[in-house]
Amino acid sequence: MRTVVISGASSGIGEATAARFHRAGDHVVNLDVRPPRPGSAVRWVPADVADWSATEQALADVHQERGRIDVVIANAGISVRHGVLDISEADARRVCDVNLLGVLGLWRAAARHMVRQGEGVLLATASVNGLRGYPFYADYNATKAGVVALCRTFALELSPHIRTACVSPGAVLTPMQEAEYTGDMLDEVNRRIPAGRHAAPEEIADAFFYLASPEARFLTGQELVIDGGETAGA
Ligand code: NAD
Repeated sequence: MRTVVISGASSGIGEATAARFHRAGDHVVNLDVRPPRPGSAVRWVPADVADWSATEQALADVHQERGRIDVVIANAGISVRHGVLDISEADARRVCDVNLLGVLGLWRAAARHMVRQGEGVLLATASVNGLRGYPFYADYNATKAGVVALCRTFALELSPHIRTACVSPGAVLTPMQEAEYTGDMLDEVNRRIPAGRHAAPEEIADAFFYLASPEARFLTGQELVIDGGETAGA
């Protein structure tokens, strides 16, 4: 039974990923600012990933209780739609604090435990938005490219004992994504995806499960794009 910590597991991709590991018999801890849906079998620890001392304390508590931390998935993320002329400083700083520095803080805290135990896997949710331009999400896009840079750097500094990887999803039907859509935008986006549809959160969860497994033992410092072919022709 592995000890697996996932941020942002009260909703969407994180929730599906927590369920995937829980089903496999792993001990899963969800760090989220919001509570999970009623009936969730996964343990929730309230924490804001932008607050490094909060995530550090949460991981220290998990480590003390479980004796080890095997897998950490930095998944919590937010987005704000705004044009580059109108981005507010407060919004941009919050997006960076959560999506980029939140990953760095959580990974740093986890890596300190993993280095002592001699092994561990650090995973994160990036996005195809880090791979190419998407209008109205300048700060979000930059944070996602930054997460891939963190992934490469941690791999170089902490190999061979610690592995890292990011999953870069294309469009996934989650509350975050649905909140962005008005009118027939959903169908419009589906038409742009070669697979003809959005991913289900479970399809991203399966990728995380693979990346954390021994089957991925020679994979580190890499970004795995799961986008139904959206960026294949880009
Ligand atoms: P979601 O809004 O359904 O879930 C995000 C979860 O993160 C929520 O439970 C929220 O409470 C939590 N969260 C937000 N800020 C937090 C903070 N500061 N500290 C702790 N928890 C926090 O969104 P989702 O679509 O499942 O997104 C998950 C990740 O996937 C994000 O990093 C997002 O950028 C990325 N992503 C999503 C899509 C998509 O199409 N949905 C595509 C590519 C990447």
